[in-house]
Amino acid sequence: MLTRLTQLEEEARSAIDSARDMQDLQAVRVRFLGKKGEITALLRSMGQLPPEQRPEFGRRANGLRDLLEQLLGEKEKELKEKEAADRWERERIDVTLPGYPVPLGRKHPLTLVTEDIKEIFTGLGFQVARGPELESDYYNFEALNMPPEHPARDMQDSFYVAPQFLLRTHTSPVQIRTMELLHPRLPVRIIAPGKVYRRDDDATHSPMFHQVEGLAVDRGITLADLKGTLLLFAREMFGPEKRIRLRPSFFPFTEPSAEVDISCINCDGEGCRVCGFTGWLEILGAGMVHPRVLQVCGYDPEDVTGFAFGMGVERIAMLKYGVNDLRLFFSNDLRFLKQFR
Ligand SMILES: [Zn+2]
Repeated sequence: MLTRLTQLEEEARSAIDSARDMQDLQAVRVRFLGKKGEITALLRSMGQLPPEQRPEFGRRANGLRDLLEQLLGEKEKELKEKEAADRWERERIDVTLPGYPVPLGRKHPLTLVTEDIKEIFTGLGFQVARGPELESDYYNFEALNMPPEHPARDMQDSFYVAPQFLLRTHTSPVQIRTMELLHPRLPVRIIAPGKVYRRDDDATHSPMFHQVEGLAVDRGITLADLKGTLLLFAREMFGPEKRIRLRPSFFPFTEPSAEVDISCINCDGEGCRVCGFTGWLEILGAGMVHPRVLQVCGYDPEDVTGFAFGMGVERIAMLKYGVNDLRLFFSNDLRFLKQFR
């Protein structure tokens, strides 16, 4: 049995040596020193020895147990240090590595076009006005000369949130709100950019889109002022050679009313697929402010006149950038959005 002790010491030393992590080491501890371990078993069988050999055997077996405890402790310390060193190597920060790039955002094409429009008109003395997107029937329709049952309401088939309240179908209510606010002061010269809502959804219509409203009211304003203002706008936005034309149209809140075209940005009037071989592209609606609208806001139509216009920002952006599907503006595809700056 003494020989067995020597064997066990060798086996244990080699097992501790080859332990590669704490799990291995724990297995070694259980194998030799556990309740059912080899040394424990040997001590239990001490009774089989002749009595005179027992003290010597016991002393050596206990000595071996102490030695193994010590070796296990040393190995454990070594493994823990190694683990800590490995983790340091894995996780340490190399300050000489290049940093993570932070991608720079850029403005949305509709924001860019809105800013261009604002810049052109503020340069002409217009101020920027805003109105609520949730609008009352009165401001959205009635004050704009569209009483209940007026057929023009059907063309704007709308999102109602309550019997008398809806998501505004155009930016024109801002005309009324501004004149109410400023009356009786003159001149009134504003543009009003913002979101509007209609029940439309296809390649050239979205249920939410953007308009810019324009309004100028003063003594002596004529259709010539409207035409001159819009010609300047078209040239600033699309190029100095652009021409415009006004076609008779109808809006309840302007009289007379016109659809405004620019000479085709693609063929310059020759006729091509873009303009449907007409040479012209429609860009906005406009007209002289209807006397009844001036009256509703407290102005005397015998004393003052005005012009108003409304343009779709998506429409202008599609023409300016050659985009053929309006839905691209709202799909958040970076491959598309990255092209604008
Ligand atoms: Zn054309």
